[in-house]
Amino acid sequence: MKVTVFGTGYVGLVQGAVLAEVGHHVVCVDVDPDKIERLKQGEIPIYEPGLESLVRDNHAAGRLKFTTDAAAGALHGNVQFIAVGTPPDEDGSADLQYVLAVATSIAEHMDGHRIIINKSTVPVGTARQVRETVDGILAGRDNPALSFDVVSNPEFLKEGSAVADCMRPDRIIIGTDSSDTEEVMRELYAPFNRNHEKIIIMGVQSAELTKYAANCMLATKISFMNEMANLAELLGADIEMVRQGIGSDPRIGYHFIYPGAGYGGSCFPKDVQALIRTAEIIDFDARILKAVESRNKEQKTMLFRKISRHFQGNLCGKTFAIWGLAFKPNTNDMREAPSRVLMEALWQAGARVRAYDPEAMEETQRLYLHCDDLQLCGTKESALKGADALIVVTDWQAFKAPDFELIREYLNEPVIFDGRNLYDPKRMQKKGFNYYATGR
Ligand code: NAD
Repeated sequence: MKVTVFGTGYVGLVQGAVLAEVGHHVVCVDVDPDKIERLKQGEIPIYEPGLESLVRDNHAAGRLKFTTDAAAGALHGNVQFIAVGTPPDEDGSADLQYVLAVATSIAEHMDGHRIIINKSTVPVGTARQVRETVDGILAGRDNPALSFDVVSNPEFLKEGSAVADCMRPDRIIIGTDSSDTEEVMRELYAPFNRNHEKIIIMGVQSAELTKYAANCMLATKISFMNEMANLAELLGADIEMVRQGIGSDPRIGYHFIYPGAGYGGSCFPKDVQALIRTAEIIDFDARILKAVESRNKEQKTMLFRKISRHFQGNLCGKTFAIWGLAFKPNTNDMREAPSRVLMEALWQAGARVRAYDPEAMEETQRLYLHCDDLQLCGTKESALKGADALIVVTDWQAFKAPDFELIREYLNEPVIFDGRNLYDPKRMQKKGFNYYATGR
């Protein structure tokens, strides 16, 4: 099939590459000329395991093309994916300007029937807005051959395993009321739907809400566990034992019940906010979601509060080694990362930071270009040199079994603040560390 994907970020690029891999002919459109130029050269702007070879191979095979030319994109695919960003507006609602700009481009240039697929995470009612936008433009074009449909097909990939998630999705949600459109969508996704039925067809509004409900449920699990971790600390319990104790109940399960430094990334914070806003618009008080958000905001300050307490508020002139900057492992994404809240609080208190992350250093450099109090270090060991404590913020595999002798040797004081519970408190005590875990 001929497919066009607007937006070559985490979602659009991965989706485009995966569809090309199974044989579809894909054109990816982006408004960012640098990104498109880099992609044409085989340079991948994001870190995502398996993506580089997938993009290079399919580009070389001529099945995956990149362009900034929206008209060429609108003319190419009988299916047109919208996979552009939907960042939070000032009031927390999803900003739809990029989605509607793509809808406008498609309507201005299409020359036959098009299925427009909303892949971006968009509030309930957006498919209707896209439809109205396209209808408005087509009315002025006066070409009776131009027909279209709008489908909601939210994306559930996880950064860090995006390629695997798209190759082997848990489910494929398709929001449409049209049997013709359903058939085209089934054909498009047939290569990913072979072993057992993964496609779930539903109404457009339900599909739009499913995406928010999924992310909000996951954010709720995290905030709930963070709340339990805070309670455990105050009550003298060990959240890791509690986690195992509750996870063994199949109704609860072990997934996504790790306490930590708060959720970040480009999705959970904005999607929780956007659903709260959607509810407000229809006069519904989303009490659980508001609590999830406020617990998360507080959790992002948890490490700083512990550090400040340990040093009796005297952080001025101190240096801290940070391991892990990305909002989670296996990505270079720094959007809403807990490390940013922590570093900014440390700088505010007059401290300096020596930081290491396996993938997010370049992105951190870009964000804090003129910050003299940040030194990015080439290895996790070099970040420790002369620091007053180590702070573990992201649970990269490479941090799980470090050389503790070396850590003690390089740090001014043997103090570790662990926002991810990577180490065993008793063992750490035996090794002579002052070890602050989370919720234990
Ligand atoms: P992103 O910011 O990484 O990429 C968006 C891309 O769209 C950018 O390259 C931008 O230049 C491009 N763009 C903007 N306007 C355009 C236009 N008019 N035409 C063509 N390209 C345009 O965003 P992302 O992380 O890929 O997220 C995209 C959407 O998918 C969002 O709604 C997000 O909530 C959702 N989503 C993201 C993830 C994730 O893990 N990142 C997972 C599921 C769903």
